[in-house]
Amino acid sequence: MNIHSELKSNFNLDSFRLGQQEIIESVLNHKDVLAIMPTGGGKSLCYQLPAYSKPGLTIVISPLIALMNDQVRHLKDLNLPTGCMHSGLSLDERKAIFAELNDALEDKKSFVLFLTPERVQKEGFAKWIVRQNVNYFAIDEAHCVSKWGHDFRQEYSQLSILKQLKPNVPIIALTATATPIVKNDIKKYLSMNEPAEHVYGFYRSNLYYQVEFCENEDVKKSYLLGALTANKNGRILIYCGTRKKTESWHEYLSTKYGKVGFYHAGLNKKDREAVEAQFASGDIRILTATNAFGMGIDLPDVRLVVHTQIPGNIESYYQEVGRAGRDGLPATCLMLYSKKDKGLQSFFITQSDAPKDIINKRWRALDAMVNFAEGSECRHSEILVYFNDQNRIKSCGHCDTCDTESKLNVKPEFIAEAEVPKKKKKSKYDKLFQTEIPADKQWMIKDLKKWRKEYAQENSVPAFMIFSDKSLRDLINQLPTTEHDLINVYGFGESKVESLSSDLLPVMEELKNNYDKGLNS
Ligand code: ADP
Ligand code: MG
Repeated sequence: MNIHSELKSNFNLDSFRLGQQEIIESVLNHKDVLAIMPTGGGKSLCYQLPAYSKPGLTIVISPLIALMNDQVRHLKDLNLPTGCMHSGLSLDERKAIFAELNDALEDKKSFVLFLTPERVQKEGFAKWIVRQNVNYFAIDEAHCVSKWGHDFRQEYSQLSILKQLKPNVPIIALTATATPIVKNDIKKYLSMNEPAEHVYGFYRSNLYYQVEFCENEDVKKSYLLGALTANKNGRILIYCGTRKKTESWHEYLSTKYGKVGFYHAGLNKKDREAVEAQFASGDIRILTATNAFGMGIDLPDVRLVVHTQIPGNIESYYQEVGRAGRDGLPATCLMLYSKKDKGLQSFFITQSDAPKDIINKRWRALDAMVNFAEGSECRHSEILVYFNDQNRIKSCGHCDTCDTESKLNVKPEFIAEAEVPKKKKKSKYDKLFQTEIPADKQWMIKDLKKWRKEYAQENSVPAFMIFSDKSLRDLINQLPTTEHDLINVYGFGESKVESLSSDLLPVMEELKNNYDKGLNS
């Protein structure tokens, strides 16, 4: 079989996107496969092409009815036999789908059946599936198995039943989220058998990442207005931390921009679907929403994603900004961050009744999010390392660290009722450090950042995971030279002292010596 000709004949596409060919080849080798690609990267094709390359049944588990319907429509348009099964269908509709499925299989054709994870737990499923000749199980949005992180679905964590019922059928798990913890959970909860792992393209070359520290709501407002002024065309998605904030930003913007929509899980199903449809049709161009909005959303021309508060972890942040620029054209991802936001996310964690180890992971994830927001390294580079992407770049040239003068950089807009920063913004670097480090120690910043960067590279973690910029400031102010001193530095707990002291203390010692001798100052 030639997969290039299948690509053309079945899907009417001319070439593969980054990673698709490798993943498909792995699937065709009859292996379990874990495929990680960014949102919009083209994951569906990775199971659909193999599914239609030979006669028989492929089962796809998908978390949302809307996502299944999209895929079914797409495949039917291509004249490929398919159907989906979920609670919204009548008995007659279900019978009709099974009749189509049986016809296709009798005619030695392929059939792709989409199921919600709930279906798999039903009694009838086990009896039915063991009698079927199944080619593949595909688990879409596979990160839903993981309790830690976002979008957890109880039924997803019980999908190991698939391997129990059909041990020889390969499982293809697909997701955009791939931290080591989530990856391990996927392999474990799906009982995957030494899967081939493919991690592709967390690098989104058309996205401009920008993070602004905002002392108060008025500063946030001024940035948000600046962002809206700069984006007169295309869709705009504004993420808010709570339902209440979603509504209050909506109200504020509606007075200025007319038709603005809002979306959160407190709306009833009908209203949510109506907003989704209006945003998809372009009837609403600007939408405020909580993180309830967006899984699997594939709209080409979202030109701006604003976070009016920081999300709880980098995985969520990445998923949400990933909805920008899916047409490949430039888009801005602006995050407005204030100290209070960390308080809100902390509150969510303390309110959760999850087990202790999960709570601890959430705290660490929030710390990472804050360190990223407060950090001063290249944003793209830090994200790629965080997700363990094979692709490494030193500086991207299109984030707020690498290019403050970019056309995509949002400038705050003056609003009458508020004090906003009027003078030209200092660069991140100056803003963070200059005021809080004495003049005669400023030279240390560069040296210590360089050491942190190199150490991070050697250990394949983002610089902000070694220590945050705030810790860096504290290190320079305190110049610790013993473990005992080090533990008093901001962000240095026992485990950090233990893991870093032997490498870091000699560096600190040298800085201190040079400082005492008056060198470099
Ligand atoms: P993901 O699930 O990774 O978020 P999808 O599978 O929904 O992404 O694909 C996103 C879009 O890209 C879809 O509109 C799809 O038709 C398109 N697409 C996928 N693969 C290709 C390709 N090789 N060439 C052109 N378009 C593609
Ligand atoms: Mg998808």
